Amino acid sequence: MIPVETFRGKTVALFGLGGSGLATAKALVAGGASVLAWDDSADSVAKAAAAGIGTADLMTIDWSGVAAFVLSPGVPLTHPKPHWTVDLAKAAGVEVIGDVELFVRERRRLAPDCPFIAITGTNGKSTTTALIAHILRESGRDTQLGGNIGTAVLTLEPPKAGRFFVVECSSYQIDLAPSLNPTAGILLNLTPDHLDRHGSMEHYASVKERLVSASGTAICGVDDSYSAAIADRIERNGGRVVRISKGLTLADGLYRDGTRLIDAHQGAKSVLADLAEHATLKGAHNAQNAAAAISACRAVGLSDAEILAGLATFPGLKHRMQPVGRIGQIIFVNDSKATNADAAAPALSSFDRIYWIAGGVAKEGGIESLSDFFPKIARAYLIGKAAEDFAATLGDAVPFIISATLEAAVADAAADAEADGRPAAVLLSPACASFDQYKNFEARGDAFVGHVAALEGVTMLV
Ligand code: ADP
Repeated sequence: MIPVETFRGKTVALFGLGGSGLATAKALVAGGASVLAWDDSADSVAKAAAAGIGTADLMTIDWSGVAAFVLSPGVPLTHPKPHWTVDLAKAAGVEVIGDVELFVRERRRLAPDCPFIAITGTNGKSTTTALIAHILRESGRDTQLGGNIGTAVLTLEPPKAGRFFVVECSSYQIDLAPSLNPTAGILLNLTPDHLDRHGSMEHYASVKERLVSASGTAICGVDDSYSAAIADRIERNGGRVVRISKGLTLADGLYRDGTRLIDAHQGAKSVLADLAEHATLKGAHNAQNAAAAISACRAVGLSDAEILAGLATFPGLKHRMQPVGRIGQIIFVNDSKATNADAAAPALSSFDRIYWIAGGVAKEGGIESLSDFFPKIARAYLIGKAAEDFAATLGDAVPFIISATLEAAVADAAADAEADGRPAAVLLSPACASFDQYKNFEARGDAFVGHVAALEGVTMLV
């Protein structure tokens, strides 16, 4: 845990006692602050009280004695409208911050020079964060990994000289971290997402811009117009920018050409790596993630040899285009995280011949947007609620069967792929939420792995 000492002897109000909120409250108490914590859930308040944290209904406290208000990133700061606690804090002139801000202040106090890499973007954050941490660890660096990826940042080991921090930041966390100043900051990409919580694309982009504009080195994806404009603006203001791209040829920066990553310096080019050799980094989107990770590791002092060694052994993240098993030339891939059509597109674009398992609870628009990939699909195996609708969309364009359950789909797809004998992927990339048949996408992915493991002759990769 990182005890938050910057509020020793002071009163800090806190709202939102989910996982990271409770961890934050504990870190404040450990650092000598007096905490007044609250949540809509009486159970969460009771749990905090049982853990020795002061609790109080923030509607009734005297805000004039409060030094800071810590808000959980899941609670609205601005849109659709500020939470009532935010209104009360602002009326009393109390600053509103989050756990990443507390981390940043402790780092500044304890070890302002310890390398700190922060990652944001609409897609690819967790993959890039995990890849960077893997490269750092493989190179022998003392590495802490946390933030939005699932480990609350204040539960990590405290900052000290020579310790590396890799922190995934959602836009909500950036919004609550006014003095965020990483050694290297990554903005992967910006596409419309969570606009209900940010009001407009411009506001969403401006929040994400803050992470890179305050970085020692700003690593920016330049494939979308918002991120490209941000890179230009930071450079104009004298900042150090590294551009990365999965679709453009750059004169300066790191970009993808086929499966290769090209390093460009003032027009001079060299091949840095060929990702065809990396089963866990397939696809243009992963080339972007790898380019970002390489650039960040360079910015904190790793050699290219160290970086490439780490890249080669990246195990990948569970449920995200994860190779889980193999029978001969048939690879079984778990992409259960693809809960809508957009998220399924990268996986469908990454394999040449696909036995596709899809279905569950569909989002609006179904799978119509994926029609460009239909020619690569040898056969589709439809499951869950969306099966009939997806069948109607596939029509005559793609052979399909309604397998109904994931277990049947895996058996059907494996039998077809083996009978065909050509290299292929049996891909679970459902383009649907899972809750008609599973608790969440993780449970669906785990079930897929279990069904693959039960196949005759399979070699498991996990
Ligand atoms: P996040 O943490 O931002 O949600 P993840 O790394 O968990 O992102 O990846 C989630 C899904 O997003 C992946 O399964 C893949 O389909 C897609 N994805 C990953 N990286 C990128 C990228 N750089 N650009 C676009 N889509 C991506």
